[in-house]
Amino acid sequence: MKSIGTTPDTEGCLGYHSLLAHSALVLFDIDGTLVRRAGPHHREALVQGVRRVTGLETTTEGIPVQGMLDPAIIRVMMQRAGATASLIRDALPAVQSAAERYYLRVCPPLHDKHCPGVEPVLEELRNRGVLLALVTGNLTRIGWRKLSRAGLRQYFRYGAFGEMAKTRAGLARLAIRRARVHGWIERGTPISLIGDAPQDIEAARANRIRSISVQTGITPVEELAALRPDIFLRDLRALRLRMLA
Ligand SMILES: [Mg+2]
Repeated sequence: MKSIGTTPDTEGCLGYHSLLAHSALVLFDIDGTLVRRAGPHHREALVQGVRRVTGLETTTEGIPVQGMLDPAIIRVMMQRAGATASLIRDALPAVQSAAERYYLRVCPPLHDKHCPGVEPVLEELRNRGVLLALVTGNLTRIGWRKLSRAGLRQYFRYGAFGEMAKTRAGLARLAIRRARVHGWIERGTPISLIGDAPQDIEAARANRIRSISVQTGITPVEELAALRPDIFLRDLRALRLRMLA
C-alpha cells in the first residue's frame, strides 16, 4: 500500500485502508514499550483481585513481573501465600475479573507516561497503512484501559492479552492468526514484534517474525543484546519504516 501522505480527510483515508491488506503488521508490547512508570495501580489491582476472591494477602514484591503475563504473576503471588494448586486454578478467573474491575476504577490519566517517541511513531505507522496490534501480558480490560488513559488506544485495531494464552509466544501466534483470518495481511506481509523484555524477543523468534527490542524498560541492555534481537533500538524515536518492511 502506498503512503497516503498528510490529508485533512483522515476518516475517509482510514475507511479506504480498511478495504485493503496492510503493508505490514506490527505487534506492540505495552509496559516499558509504549508506557512506563504508570504507577502502582496495576500491581495493586492484582493484589486486590486475589484479596477480594480468596481473602489471601499477597504481594508482587520479589516477583520479576517484567515480561510476565498477568495470570502467571497472580499464580506466583498465590503460591507464595500458600494457596494450593486447585485453589489457584479454581479462583483464577474470578481473581482476574476482580483485578480488572479494580483497575478500571483506579487507573489515573497516563498521558505523561509515554515512552519517548511513541505518539509520532504510531501516527506515522498508521498513516502509512501499517496494521498495529497489541501483544501484552496485561489482562484485557487492564491493557485497554491503560492505553486509553494514555491516549493511545485509537491506534490499535485489536490485541492479544495475558489471559488468552499461556506464553507470550502463544499470544503473538494468536495475534498473527487473527490478522490472517480477517484478511488484514497477506501471505508475505512482514510482521514485527516490538518489546522491551527478553520474553518479547523470544516470542518473536518462536513465531519466526522480526524482533525489535527497545531499551525503555528495566532489562539491562547487555541482557537484551545477548539475545540478539533482529533490530535493537534505544527507544522508538529510532524506529524507521524500512525496518518494518
Ligand atoms: Mg514490557
